[in-house]
Amino acid sequence: MASQEQAPLSESIPDTARNYVGGDWTEPTGGEAHPIENPATGESFATIHYSSASDVGDVVDTAAEAFDEWRRTPPVERIQYLFDLKHELEERQEDIAQALTREHGKTLAEARGEIRRGIENVEVAAGMPNMFREGSGVVEDVASDIDEQSIRQPLGVFAAITPFNFPAMIPLWFLPYALATGNTFVLKPSERVPLSSQLIFEAVDAVDFPEGVVNLVNGDAESVNALIEHPEVVGVSFVGSSPVARHVYESAAREGKRVQAQGGAKNYAVVTESASLPEVVPNVIGSVYGNAGQRCLANDVVVGVGDVYGDLREKLIEQATELTVGSGLDEGTDVGPLITGDSRERVLDLIDDAIDEGAELVLDGRDFDHPDLDGHFLGPTLLEGVTTDMEITQTEIFGPVLCLAEADDLDEAIEMVNSTRYGNASSIYTERGGEARKYRYEVDAGNVGVNVGVCAPMGFFHFGGRKESFFGDLHAQGEDAVNFYTEKTICIERWHQ
Ligand code: NAD
Repeated sequence: MASQEQAPLSESIPDTARNYVGGDWTEPTGGEAHPIENPATGESFATIHYSSASDVGDVVDTAAEAFDEWRRTPPVERIQYLFDLKHELEERQEDIAQALTREHGKTLAEARGEIRRGIENVEVAAGMPNMFREGSGVVEDVASDIDEQSIRQPLGVFAAITPFNFPAMIPLWFLPYALATGNTFVLKPSERVPLSSQLIFEAVDAVDFPEGVVNLVNGDAESVNALIEHPEVVGVSFVGSSPVARHVYESAAREGKRVQAQGGAKNYAVVTESASLPEVVPNVIGSVYGNAGQRCLANDVVVGVGDVYGDLREKLIEQATELTVGSGLDEGTDVGPLITGDSRERVLDLIDDAIDEGAELVLDGRDFDHPDLDGHFLGPTLLEGVTTDMEITQTEIFGPVLCLAEADDLDEAIEMVNSTRYGNASSIYTERGGEARKYRYEVDAGNVGVNVGVCAPMGFFHFGGRKESFFGDLHAQGEDAVNFYTEKTICIERWHQ
């Protein structure tokens, strides 16, 4: 079958990434054009210019000017824009999915699912007046004729800096909450996948927010640092790799700003003898190989406890072998390409090192060659005999690679789970409540799944990890987002007339 890659680009997909400042589209002025490549074909289909520090300064100044009026806009009016934004995003859902798949490589089904999860946060933030009410309070007569109240207030301009692997969802972890709480906002998306944000901002543009309330700046590390250093930026939300998360956390804190920085991950799943394998195996496969493994919630090390190992191994190999690798635009594809050739090389090196360290290659996807496409593909790969002293069990793989390990009992398995410097997520597969309870209690991870391999919290719950997976204290989404984007002011009142 001829690949749909040959189909002409939909007119709705922009061929260049522009900034959105004060309600206008502008061209970034930071030097040469960089190509945006389709990872399934290696072909460049759009370009991005990075912003200069002066572009970033203009964007932040514009957002700062818009703050006073936006802050004074009643929350019930602010959320009307979010209702409209939800509608505009839903209207564009398919266009965003097409752009997202072309620039990122994930399948259209994955792209659609991610957009839906992003819109969910717009819906949650549209309930902001109620969330404000829940986080505030008044106590009458704290002393005679004196009342005391706690009020939430916005702070100013917030910036969000986002990674390549969820180009539509992650910007929406932040944008709706920052706006609904009365702050103004600047998004700096990953320079590797800027087109999804272009379409999200076309939806923003259609909503007609007051000028300067919501802005987009394209760029790389230079733009990130300019945002952090700008005196009008009061806080920074970040998602990306741990070294950059740490850098953003430290430098924003040094500037006296609020910061929440979500970093990388290394997640394990544990399968116990009581687990129901017919349901478990497809769930594990989805967690490891979905999004081609490029997911901060992927459980890329799977530990079989006791006698379950043999059956689990056999069924995992069987189902991993059946996965179809190809372009995300082709309906039958299960596993798309990796984002760049360098990413693919990195994963290949990790596999080779693991073999050198004693792991056994059971399913080898290294030489996968697509008959029509010259993309950054890697076939599903499965290693067994991994131990926690290997690089591959301590480093985020971010590729379609499953590492199988064995443990004698649950205690040993939990020790393996907690052996890494990360703490983003972990899952247990069991039908015993006691095992699940022990796991939840003893595992050092911010998101724990019980018979769920991708435990991505709904928008009304917070989302964040522990250890080197998170720097800060208030997480993304839900009530934590409201706390992050507001200052709690105490007012003590006494009246004489
Ligand atoms: P990345 O750290 O390379 O880039 C993230 C953002 O930081 C981008 O916008 C980029 O422009 C900027 N950036 C890159 N280098 C910088 C530097 N030196 N100084 C300042 N800014 C810089 O991450 P990525 O490769 O785009 O994304 C993948 C990573 O994100 C993985 O580690 C994944 O686990 C993590 N991630 C974590 C979560 C989570 O919830 N914890 C969610 C999604 C992705």
